[in-house]
Amino acid sequence: METILQAENIERVYTIGKTTLDVLKGVSLEVKAGETVSIMGESGSGKSTLLHVLGGLDTPRAGKVRFKGQDVYGMSSARRSRFRAEDVGFLFQSFHLLPELDILENVALPAMAVRVSGDPKERAAELLTEVGLGERIGHRPQELSGGEQQRAALARALMNEPDIIFCDEPTGNLDSKTGDKVLHYLFQLVAGRGHTLVLVTHSRDVASRCSRQLVLKDGLLI
Ligand code: ADP
Ligand code: MG
Repeated sequence: METILQAENIERVYTIGKTTLDVLKGVSLEVKAGETVSIMGESGSGKSTLLHVLGGLDTPRAGKVRFKGQDVYGMSSARRSRFRAEDVGFLFQSFHLLPELDILENVALPAMAVRVSGDPKERAAELLTEVGLGERIGHRPQELSGGEQQRAALARALMNEPDIIFCDEPTGNLDSKTGDKVLHYLFQLVAGRGHTLVLVTHSRDVASRCSRQLVLKDGLLI
């Protein structure tokens, strides 16, 4: 299988006043197209930092991230914005839906930035149907439960047909039954469309549903 994402010796340091915090101390990772990879690790171990670096959101102090062979932080900022908009999808712990838009508009929103095949609202409606929200497309986010909002956020993450999806504890704000339903749709959609997935989770059970399990510890992936 083709390597889709490659990280080499990633270092990331935070400086707060006079203290420096070495969060990532030389993380390397290779992800093949279609793989599903879980990352576990204690709170504060740098999992979110690593996902942000991998997804083009946070420049590392050292090291390289390559997406399909292209150096993500060597790209112009316009090219990197396009990479974030077209090639990757993000699902965070909090849903980040816009309250003034209904969920159809929320899901269709990423298509404002890039061209997608077909009509954006039709595609958004199909995705919402696939996550079990076909009857709720005219509702505002605040009229939905947390689990439903996260399923809408999942549909939005898939809107631009990203090659790789990064999930940062996507069920962290949900009770386990609601969270399981979100994960059910996530794994179903990822498998059905052959997306590549990098998933940060606290749950060993969830991690075991991925094809490869990694742990971030003392600034390194093991
Ligand atoms: P995790 O997602 O594994 O809980 P994070 O990547 O969020 O870990 O954070 C790793 C460490 O870096 C933590 O100690 C956190 O407090 C610190 N940190 C995260 N973001 C910042 C920031 N913007 N400025 C300073 N410290 C930060
Ligand atoms: Mg985190």
